[in-house]
Amino acid sequence: MRRFTHVNAGSIDEAISFLRRYGDRADIIAGGTDLLGKMKDEILPRYPEAVINIKTIPGLEFIKEEGDVLRAGALTRLEDIGTDSTIREKYTALAEAAERTASPHIREMGTIGGNLCQDIRCWYYRNPHNRFPCLRKGGGRCYAIEGDNRYHSIFGGSVKGGCYAVHPSDMAPALIALDGRIKTSKRTVNAEDFFEVGVKRTTVLDKDEIVTEIEIPLPKDGAKSAFMKFAIRKSIDFPIVNCAAMIEKDGRKVKAARICLNAVYVKPYRAAKAEEAIVGKAINEENAERAGNAVIADAEPLSGNRYMVQIAKTLVKRIILACN
Ligand SMILES: Cc1cc2nc3c(=O)[nH]c(=O)nc-3n(C[C@H](O)[C@H](O)[C@H](O)COP(=O)(O)OP(=O)(O)OC[C@H]3O[C@@H](n4cnc5c(N)ncnc54)[C@H](O)[C@@H]3O)c2cc1C
Ligand code: SF4
Repeated sequence: MRRFTHVNAGSIDEAISFLRRYGDRADIIAGGTDLLGKMKDEILPRYPEAVINIKTIPGLEFIKEEGDVLRAGALTRLEDIGTDSTIREKYTALAEAAERTASPHIREMGTIGGNLCQDIRCWYYRNPHNRFPCLRKGGGRCYAIEGDNRYHSIFGGSVKGGCYAVHPSDMAPALIALDGRIKTSKRTVNAEDFFEVGVKRTTVLDKDEIVTEIEIPLPKDGAKSAFMKFAIRKSIDFPIVNCAAMIEKDGRKVKAARICLNAVYVKPYRAAKAEEAIVGKAINEENAERAGNAVIADAEPLSGNRYMVQIAKTLVKRIILACN
């Protein structure tokens, strides 16, 4: 690693003032499980001059229910989210996503804020010493289109149509399915609107803005949520495809559905066509299969990732059956 300045922020305001002072030359660090890997491998053209530690800010690590809203601070560790009894019982998809993320060690270090703000995992982008200065780093081309794209987007690209790197978070689709919001030092954003694709950018956050907490409204009576993940290994593996859903029923029929896939597109992918296909229907094999087929109607796989289409379809079918 190269030399950098490390500063401990004592408050949100202090973190913001450091971010303003250093501008583009600083990065926030929470658990460090994503950022430190990037720094060690020197993947980006610019190395951070300063790293601003937000773990020293008191009051950002909590889980509480206030009225009909669950709140969790940005520094809440994934392990605590995965094992919290209230989250497991009422906001099930979030707990299931947390307990399927990475490995026990990473869940002990990794925070919910860091998980939502983590960078992409495209192997060209992550190659050490900026060997592939691709579009997403401000360079001129995408190496994955003609290269090895087995883990890339099956629903098209972005950054002027060129980047096919998927968003890798397990927590993001669960938060979106549960209709969550993300609170920052400046505003509150629906989780669905939080993700944005650009050069060195995965969220809508301004350079002087940090995530402070997440909020989730209490699911309606009769609603059930779940999370599923397909990965090569059971532990310490990013999703090949993951999927979260919250389904509300009225008698035997589905009244409302929120279904979100991730790792299939450059941002978390709301499976709107599957939702349309299942609302008003009973949950059974046939209807769940139809919803799975609906979501992949828009798929445009690349040369090496057609297999992901089948996985996405199957996960959507299974998650609907799991929410019965
Ligand atoms: C081996 C390995 C396996 C992994 N497997 C998975 C997996 O299966 N699923 C998955 O979803 N993830 C996985 N991850 C990714 C990730 O490291 C963790 O999910 C973790 O939650 C990231 O949190 P952190 O606090 O360590 O983030 P950090 O590394 O501290 O930060 C990550 C990024 O977010 C920014 N950031 C952090 N907190 C904030 C904040 N409050 N406001 C604004 N910006 C912020 C940082 O500046 C940095 O750019 C894996 C990582 C590794 C190394
Ligand atoms: S998919 Fe995106 S991150 Fe990967 S090489 Fe192409 S432009 Fe770069």
